[in-house]
Amino acid sequence: MKFSHSSGKPPLALNTSIQYLKGVGPRLGEYLKQKNIYTAQDALYFFPRTYEDRAHFTPIRHLKIGERQTSFGTIRSLGEVATRIQRMKFMELVVQDTTGILWLKWFRYNLSYMKKKFKVGSHLVFSGEVKHYRNQLQIVHPDVEIVENPEGDTINFGRIVPVYSLTQGLYQKTLRRIVHQVTSQTESLIVDPLPSEIKKKHALLELGPSLCEIHYPSSLQPIEARRRLVFDEFFYVELALALKRSKIKKETSNGYPTSTLLKQKLLASLPFSLTAGQQTVLKEIEGDLSKPHPMLRLLQGDVGSGKTLVATLSALSVLEQNHQVALMVPTEILAEQHFETLCTYLAPLHISCTLLKSDLKKGEKTQSLSDIASANAQFIIGTHALIEEEVVFKNLGLVIIDEQHRFGVEQRLKLKQKGGNPHLLFMTATPIPRTLAMTVYGDLDVSLMTDLPTGRKPIQTKVVFESQRLKLYAFLRDKLKAGQQAYVIYPLIEESEKVDLKDATRMAEHLKNIFSGFTIALLHGKLSSDEKKEIMSQFKSRKINMLVSTTVIEVGVDVPNSTLMVIEHAERFGLSQLHQLRGRIGRGSLASFCFLLPSFPTSEEAKIRLKAMEQHQCGFRIAEIDLKLRGPGEFLGTKQSGLAEFQLANLILDQSILKIARQEAFDLIRKDPRLVAAEHQGLKQTLIQRWKTKVDFMGAG
Ligand code: ADP
Ligand code: MG
Repeated sequence: MKFSHSSGKPPLALNTSIQYLKGVGPRLGEYLKQKNIYTAQDALYFFPRTYEDRAHFTPIRHLKIGERQTSFGTIRSLGEVATRIQRMKFMELVVQDTTGILWLKWFRYNLSYMKKKFKVGSHLVFSGEVKHYRNQLQIVHPDVEIVENPEGDTINFGRIVPVYSLTQGLYQKTLRRIVHQVTSQTESLIVDPLPSEIKKKHALLELGPSLCEIHYPSSLQPIEARRRLVFDEFFYVELALALKRSKIKKETSNGYPTSTLLKQKLLASLPFSLTAGQQTVLKEIEGDLSKPHPMLRLLQGDVGSGKTLVATLSALSVLEQNHQVALMVPTEILAEQHFETLCTYLAPLHISCTLLKSDLKKGEKTQSLSDIASANAQFIIGTHALIEEEVVFKNLGLVIIDEQHRFGVEQRLKLKQKGGNPHLLFMTATPIPRTLAMTVYGDLDVSLMTDLPTGRKPIQTKVVFESQRLKLYAFLRDKLKAGQQAYVIYPLIEESEKVDLKDATRMAEHLKNIFSGFTIALLHGKLSSDEKKEIMSQFKSRKINMLVSTTVIEVGVDVPNSTLMVIEHAERFGLSQLHQLRGRIGRGSLASFCFLLPSFPTSEEAKIRLKAMEQHQCGFRIAEIDLKLRGPGEFLGTKQSGLAEFQLANLILDQSILKIARQEAFDLIRKDPRLVAAEHQGLKQTLIQRWKTKVDFMGAG
């Protein structure tokens, strides 16, 4: 083998450690590691944040006032100057090109550093907002970069150059040099594992050229290179999901024929009939349950759409075969509530329910555990207490996880591991747009319930200001007199000195004075579960008229007679959370009202959130807006997304690419479910490399 290298050094390989690159040592290596660049390949995949056009500089004379622009000139003079009036010192650099002169100014600077860095006669690229001041063109606090040798510097000059995200000690020029070194020396080494039919079908560029182009593009928008790399980002996520899914689908479970007897009985006992959405979704779930492979289904339904009933009806198929069903919920209040609801549904069918919480008395707990182990308990409801080691099921056939976004990936999987491949049903009232659901829950089937039970009156939502508080109280008093019930929500339970929040405790006292004659109670997370249970049951039985609460009631609570909600400091809540909170009302046949009281002043973004609440009722619409406001990362939260952080891809703007990437990935796994074909070995390697730290995707669960 012949190497064309004269240095005697081995040629650069993709897995060469970054600190062995020319001009990189241990120190710079450390800085690069802070950016997750460990190898040459990592540098290749460290994409620019943006680009700067240094092929076509605007001559100084043609710079537009008020705009951010980039230009190029030679330093004519530099020095420290004082302002005429306040005698404040600043640093000034005068630059010149063939068309004019411009002043660069710094008001915060390190003089000796500046003097070392800039020399009269040096060539300088500078950018920033151009201003006109006392007949001078100037830029205050510009971005500047010295170009040693404009003719010879082909990396930083005379082309479109990449702009990377930096960290202390790491400079643009350094990164550009390193990445340029890698791209120019490794392009021929880059193997493109993507099958050529896929590339051809979707007119995707080759990988090597795409990687080079994304760093040193020929135009400011390297659309095609980006499209290929975005495709890859999605494709490998989808491939992992497809693999995981096919693995789970291959497992065998008990198939449960659709319940007949029990279902008829339960349906007959209901004072209403199922909505169309409930019927469709129930059929989908029953279809899954009847197969001898585990169901993996996500039920997305807006708040109040009646998911609990759907879950119960689905469970009947399993219960009819004398197998067990477990329902896991995120809070104790919700566990209590589900327990009560399910008892009323199931007791007439002679099915035993058990509630498992973390703070049961010793004797009760031993009893519950032994009931669960012997299958005396058929339907088990609980918080995360369900996933503790000591809980052993006899024959767990179905696991239902309510408000699943409140649980982490591992918690969800732990319950699944409790028994011989139970069927899995996830439920959520935080709906996410379908294309996004495909990525986040790509391994799940998704059922949608968009309709609400008939007879629901829309909730009127209104932003109310401090000046209208008394009017609001009068309105509430009238409604309370008429027998309706109210929630007043506070973001915090104790007043913190730093944050100017009204203390829920103190406010409850205040409201007791204002609404004398009515019963007002305070509910918050620090109460014992018995206390919480007592308060909720009194609220349900209408002994309490007004419930002052922190967000412990946020998810799931169902008290149809409560029609009023006041949310204090509403600007502190996220949009989805506001929608969840509001979902506690509007559950009965009376008109409901939700009042949002922002504290003053509110940010622009908060105003948009509150406005959206006034305008929209539909959870799907709200979720879309929330997603746009916060971006997918924040919106989804780190907890539930074993999801990749995408470098280039944008889940909202690149949905069409996501669609084809998903289609291709799933097709490929259908044809080669274990990636054994010779032509898929590259894909498999890439997949392992990309997801080595994300076990979830590799189906470890
Ligand atoms: P969510 O989907 O938010 O979990 P719930 O399961 O708490 O909603 O149901 C909300 C309320 O709607 C409950 O009081 C329930 O009894 C009622 N409900 C469920 N299905 C129907 C229906 N088909 N018609 C009328 N009311 C229903
Ligand atoms: Mg619910």
